[in-house]
Amino acid sequence: MVLRRQREPLALADIAVPEPKAGEVLIRIEACAVCRTDLHIVDGELHEPKLPLVIGHQIVGIVEQGAGQFRPGDRVGVPWLGWTDGECRYCTTGRENLCIRARFTGYTIDGGYAEYCVADARYCFSLPDGYSAEEASPLLCAGFIGFRALRLAGDAQRIGFYGFGSSAQILVQVARAEGREVYAFTRDGDEEGQRFARAMGAGWAGGAGRRAPEELDAAIIFAPVGNLVIAALRNLAKGGVVVCAGIHMSDIPSFPYELLWGERSIRSVANLTRDDGRQFLERARRTRIQTRREVFTLEQANEALARLRAGEIVGTAVLRIAA
Ligand SMILES: [Zn+2]
Ligand SMILES: [Zn+2]
Repeated sequence: MVLRRQREPLALADIAVPEPKAGEVLIRIEACAVCRTDLHIVDGELHEPKLPLVIGHQIVGIVEQGAGQFRPGDRVGVPWLGWTDGECRYCTTGRENLCIRARFTGYTIDGGYAEYCVADARYCFSLPDGYSAEEASPLLCAGFIGFRALRLAGDAQRIGFYGFGSSAQILVQVARAEGREVYAFTRDGDEEGQRFARAMGAGWAGGAGRRAPEELDAAIIFAPVGNLVIAALRNLAKGGVVVCAGIHMSDIPSFPYELLWGERSIRSVANLTRDDGRQFLERARRTRIQTRREVFTLEQANEALARLRAGEIVGTAVLRIAA
């Protein structure tokens, strides 16, 4: 499914199986989970993608041609971070997520809305046993970058999640396993979303305009809506942090300084490091992550994106690719 131009639907096309270069694995793709970032690329909110482009950066598949530690027949996961230079001021200080020359799967490198892809073996992951391809695929971005957001929330005991989709349904389980309390905020009146959040482990769920029953130590904003930053600040205890987990968000309106006063802070999360991925997968080995998924075929990718854009997906949308 090829993106030829932004703001156009993906087109079903026959394309050549990619040729792996030195250090790259060739992967027969089994599943690719859909991320909101895919929508931002298609809708033109992220600029200068490779074109034509195969989007998709939560890839699980079987290695057909090995490289690095991967052998033919291994199951492998390919995340958003596809390549870094290893030598810039960020890479050399443990912050490869900020690399100035980073390349990203399904954005500046062809990704997983296809039957085959190639990937630099150094950025691929072995996956925990006991997860099917469809179960493992949302771990690769919703899990990895969500986990980075959770770590940046520090040791907060009471955490608000604004937007309860693919990432939140995974992170609520990690937060609960760490003994934290999760308060889920969804669209006002979204009863189904609030029921879903409670079913996945949130101790409280309500509309995004609501006052939390307790002051929150941190909030993570998963929905791409700038207003939510202010809604979250209003619920935040002194010293608390609002972590913006998405790659794109509508403008944050101005707000009175007193909402920030008391050493509250607002920060973003950008991409992932391979260490985030390793730490999260280690967690997913110990805490079996359950996800609610809506499965589509590769040819239904535009429908999956449309349903995500309309807020109709409960849980995660996943493309099932291999027969
Ligand atoms: Zn770098
Ligand atoms: Zn993503």
